[in-house]
Amino acid sequence: MQTITEEQSKQISDLMKDFIEQTINLYDTLPMRPVGCPADQKTLAYLEKLPIPNQERPLSEVFREMLQDIYASTLFAQHPRSFSCIPSTASLLSWMGDVMTSAYNPHAGCQVNAPVAALIEKKLIRWMCGLAGYPEESGGLFVSGGSIANLTALTAARDAKLASEECKDATIYISNQTHSSIAKALHIIGFCKDQIHTIPTGRSFRMDLSALQAAITDDIKRGKKPFAVIASAGTTNTGSIDPIADIAALCHKHNMWLHVDGAFGASALLSKQQRKKLARIELSDSISWDAHKWMLQTYSCSVVLIRNQENLVCSFAAHPEYLKDAENTEGCAEFWDLGPELTRPARSLKLWLTLQAMGSEKMGHVIDHGCAMAKLAEDIIRKSPGWEISSPAQLGIVNFRYAPDQAMPENALNQLNQDISKKINESGFAQVFTTQLLGKTVLRMCTINPETTKQDIHDTVARLVRIGHACTMPFTLSA
Ligand SMILES: *Cc1c(COP(=O)(O)O)cnc(C)c1O
Repeated sequence: MQTITEEQSKQISDLMKDFIEQTINLYDTLPMRPVGCPADQKTLAYLEKLPIPNQERPLSEVFREMLQDIYASTLFAQHPRSFSCIPSTASLLSWMGDVMTSAYNPHAGCQVNAPVAALIEKKLIRWMCGLAGYPEESGGLFVSGGSIANLTALTAARDAKLASEECKDATIYISNQTHSSIAKALHIIGFCKDQIHTIPTGRSFRMDLSALQAAITDDIKRGKKPFAVIASAGTTNTGSIDPIADIAALCHKHNMWLHVDGAFGASALLSKQQRKKLARIELSDSISWDAHKWMLQTYSCSVVLIRNQENLVCSFAAHPEYLKDAENTEGCAEFWDLGPELTRPARSLKLWLTLQAMGSEKMGHVIDHGCAMAKLAEDIIRKSPGWEISSPAQLGIVNFRYAPDQAMPENALNQLNQDISKKINESGFAQVFTTQLLGKTVLRMCTINPETTKQDIHDTVARLVRIGHACTMPFTLSA
């Protein structure tokens, strides 16, 4: 049965050529466009009513609908003035790799199905393990994102450190800045909330070592079994890095697993200037590292690295009869033996293409640029009257707030900064979200996009300052 007519393949060819040109143009003109284009109510209502048709529709019509009604209202996380969350740094190179990979659609679950993609994935994992300083027996896997990387690593940690009857008494240590995906992962693999100890961080937003030590000692006294610490290498709120070397020493002393959540910050290993901030990361047992955050990749592209690959095999290997003929005969672990996924796309190929085309050194410069832009934002904000730095620039993230009048009550200041964020986002010029630090609402900029210019930073801060003034006019007038 023919699902695509000859006429349609000709049309696909023409439409896609056109699409590629439009995409290049879109990326070229991105800085001139608004960051986000909210979907209009009419379009949403139209799509809501649109049925799944029983019969075919003209392809050109569907194509136009996809472009105008669906993709057109994208919020561009890869826009150079998108500073919210961890923005995307996706480059056209990664997009190219993505398009090419999905065209061939390799099944990257095992080596028999996609032998060359398997080789590339292993080479990249070895290279990334090398950057982390991991030993020969280390390994890892490409996964969809940091959340699944964390889940994969924590499953291996549980199985390596705990007999099943010990699980209910086990305790895990995170900080109050640890990413929410860790608690989710621990929930999925069977731990209760009261088994997770949240360690304070104070003004530095780094895990307090003596509090960690005290919690572990206390738990041992209570008959609990401390088994893992999650250190963050680049927290999502502030970019802070936990004291990895000291935590590693504690883990060693108590025979605990050290997982480093570097979903955001592990990319700093690519930079000669920044990598020393992650000193001793090689002492960890596992690392999460998102390539779709700071290594220019489109979603979804992330890795979980592990000091000893056997730990992944122990947790995830399964040898069902229907896969017997697809298993390699050399006895080495298949990708489906290293994590939760069986069928998976060859996520490594777009990263390979990007690195081959640009070289790893330039990617290191991308990291330096992101850090420099956050520092520039910090410097400008420090010179702006009424503005204060809440957390200085760390790994491309800076937090600050407008507090023009010390007499203003705290909740009014919180609302003021929330309003400033709302107004700049609505303007479409830039996107800056708030977060909470030490109980206060603060503005947060994550400046990792390599296309972000100094001018973008100057213009964005200038706008924030202007909006801040405008928001306080009624306040100052009535005062
Ligand atoms: C983004 C992030 C995650 C989650 O990664 P996803 O790719 O969004 O699943 C986990 N940890 C940290 C520190 C992050 O910044």
